[in-house]
Amino acid sequence: MVEKFSFEGGEKGISLLVLGAIHGNEVAGIGALNKLLKKINSGEIVIKKGKLVVIPICNVEANIKDVRQIDENLNRVMKVHENPITYEQKLANEIMPFIKDCDVMLDLHSTHCKGDEPFVFCDYPKELNLKLIDVIDVDYVLEGWPDIYAGQSEIEDYSTERACFECGKSGTTLECGYHKEDKAIDVAYNAIINALKVFELIESDKPIKKEKTHILMKNFVVKKKEGRLLKQYKHLDKVYKGEGIARYDDGEILRAQNDGYILLPNLECKIGAEWYYFGIDKL
Ligand SMILES: [Zn+2]
Repeated sequence: MVEKFSFEGGEKGISLLVLGAIHGNEVAGIGALNKLLKKINSGEIVIKKGKLVVIPICNVEANIKDVRQIDENLNRVMKVHENPITYEQKLANEIMPFIKDCDVMLDLHSTHCKGDEPFVFCDYPKELNLKLIDVIDVDYVLEGWPDIYAGQSEIEDYSTERACFECGKSGTTLECGYHKEDKAIDVAYNAIINALKVFELIESDKPIKKEKTHILMKNFVVKKKEGRLLKQYKHLDKVYKGEGIARYDDGEILRAQNDGYILLPNLECKIGAEWYYFGIDKL
């Protein structure tokens, strides 16, 4: 069973859902949500309006084992499964009613490399998620994720953001940075507090808006055979047109099609999975 916490304000308002550890070993969100729950329980934070639902650990078994997933990526199977088979499909069935019930979702993830920049995804821009993204204190927004998965059948893409979109809701995913640094917990915690402020669940001044660089995702590369990335690429590293990015063991080289950014490189990528993504500045 996934543990959930729900707090209702006295007045009608926006219903905010905050998810942690959709990937079991991404613990920054858990730290931030535990801190939040403590402050709510002690009365330091009071939900005055609307509703807050918190699921600190979505992938329970993976969290216990300190791994990303048990059978498959929970962030690719977030829909109602009529005959759930894998552990993550069963979890998705348990979490989906809460997505259907909210107005806006904040999904907290963290990354695996020291020094990783925090950023947000905006897959399906809508009024409420744009309002939320405006007040999250990060420098980068990644857009265009659904377009790069459209029209291909290699990988299914039922992310939490897609689940929100399909249910007529609004969502965003915050990658809080390297999850072994306390800074990532602070990024997650500040985002939650600013969400509570901007949607007026708590009484406060308006949170400050933060200007961001918008990157348009153009494509992803699936690792087709044995090979390696040519550099220890980090997320958001700049690359230039023609630059060799990866080399298969048979000599084939994958090059940047344009000037842009390497996004979410997976240095330990298995064959058949997403190796890295490529994006450009959104003009
Ligand atoms: Zn994640």
